[in-house]
Amino acid sequence: MIRNILNLEKQGLKNYSHCNLNCLGSGVFNLGSMACNCKNIDFGSEENFAQQIMVDIPSHMEGYKQARFKEGLSDKICIDPCIIDEVKELWSLGIETHGCCCGHNKTESFVNVHEKDIEKMLSLGYVQNHPDKSRKDTFRLKSV
Ligand SMILES: [Zn+2]
Repeated sequence: MIRNILNLEKQGLKNYSHCNLNCLGSGVFNLGSMACNCKNIDFGSEENFAQQIMVDIPSHMEGYKQARFKEGLSDKICIDPCIIDEVKELWSLGIETHGCCCGHNKTESFVNVHEKDIEKMLSLGYVQNHPDKSRKDTFRLKSV
């Protein structure tokens, strides 16, 4: 699973993308109530990259960082500003994230987490949200 995600990240702009990956062109999510700050942001676009916030990979995600290095990816990741506070909160709880997207008001937001954190996410009240029901590691974010 992490290999698939890293392959997506390699396709992302400038090799930093933590976001905008699984949501690249995915129109499959149910367009429900959404409210994030994005206006006219297309998935994978320069505008999308430009608005993102670049942060260091946190220390509890060392395995992810090393896996990224192996794939020639950066030790910095970019996150949509609409969801950075929530992602940082997940990090503060020790949750390892593997990609996220605010949805840019076009699809639902999501965050992928390490398999070990699936139960923790459920206990925090997060709802699994991937069009492929076999994917248990993708959750809808709460703040968007
Ligand atoms: Zn947004």
